[in-house]
Amino acid sequence: MTMRLILFFGALLGHIYCRETFVGDQVLEIVPSNEEQIKNLLELEAEEHLQLDFWKYPTTPGKTAHVRVPFVNLQAVKVFMESQGISYSTMIADVQVLLDKEREEMLFNQRRERNGNFNFGAYHTLEEISQEIDNLVAEHPGLVSKVNIGSSFEKRPMNVLKFSTGGDKPAIWLDAGIHAREWVTQATALWTANKIASDYGNDPSITSILDTLDIFLLPVTNPDGYVFSHTQNRMWRKTRSNVSGSSCVGVDANRNWDAGFGGPGASDDPCSDSYRGCSANSEVEVKSIVDFIKSHGKVKAFITLHSYSQLLMFPYGYTCTNSANFDELNEVAQKAAQSVKSLHGTEYEVGPICSVIYQASGGSIDWSYDYGVKYSFAFELRDTGQHGFLLPASQILPTAEETWLGLKTILEHVRDHPY
Ligand SMILES: [Zn+2]
Repeated sequence: MTMRLILFFGALLGHIYCRETFVGDQVLEIVPSNEEQIKNLLELEAEEHLQLDFWKYPTTPGKTAHVRVPFVNLQAVKVFMESQGISYSTMIADVQVLLDKEREEMLFNQRRERNGNFNFGAYHTLEEISQEIDNLVAEHPGLVSKVNIGSSFEKRPMNVLKFSTGGDKPAIWLDAGIHAREWVTQATALWTANKIASDYGNDPSITSILDTLDIFLLPVTNPDGYVFSHTQNRMWRKTRSNVSGSSCVGVDANRNWDAGFGGPGASDDPCSDSYRGCSANSEVEVKSIVDFIKSHGKVKAFITLHSYSQLLMFPYGYTCTNSANFDELNEVAQKAAQSVKSLHGTEYEVGPICSVIYQASGGSIDWSYDYGVKYSFAFELRDTGQHGFLLPASQILPTAEETWLGLKTILEHVRDHPY
């Protein structure tokens, strides 16, 4: 009976909000075997009427690509693959089934949380996250404070959690959720905030880190997109800004930074999911972080959380030339990946963005690195595609726990190598 009620209200709410559905959509895993097949797949993406949503782009022959295909175009796409001899298999048989389950679990959890206990192993709305941010500040007044660094396009506050034992220390920047649909990142950031706050004074490692460095953590970098991914379209990635001269909305905020802006691996088409924007820093969410880092003046590490693919990357993305600090960054990242793996055996691939994924311009860690923040890293959290962006809530805690070990390894290195 209870479950039925939950489903009923879920359906009702979905209806009120006109939430987009994905009934029968499939995510296909594709393995192109040569460059020509990759070219064909990218040409297929350009066919706008097919509405393909590449979760993972085809890059190298033999490496997998993932694409969500709307139900109405499945037949056509499969016929195309077969005619080209491109091998593929079904990774997610019906996207809406996963979405319904996710929704049901969220509603169930909301009822459970009425007793006041925040469950870090569940997905939450922006409102719930904001409330928990305030709770963390209230529970740890001597250590945690809230810093507002600006407002999003739709005027939602961008609130950063500051962890500081006082004084004017060099700092670590950590953000999550610049891509709205990567829900495990916002959840991991929040868990991490609670972990830092509760382990200070107990865990010698985090204690010594915070005795040397301040940590600034932004759990929801793209609040407008995050809200939209809850209320309208779970697959939303971009910001929600208006693009003049186009009916398409939003910019890929991780193609909008002033680092090789406009170069390869970003689109100039406002309807593309990797649209770079009309100019660098056009997105107020990006500009707010840039201004904060510049005005702070002593940020020594810049770490950003994305999902999915299980990668730990460092600059560059806009060029395939190695950075001056390649050896050190690679060594730190390799060590951090081993720390991640030590907990649940989760395997990460390590390297510069350009060699690990593909050439991509306008990314945040390229900007921070070129600005002088040597320790710039990007995580792609779980999984490798079985659920992709729709990672079940049951994996939030193990993901956050293993990621924390990797983060700690990086932070310890930053602490021990002042510059
Ligand atoms: Zn991302």
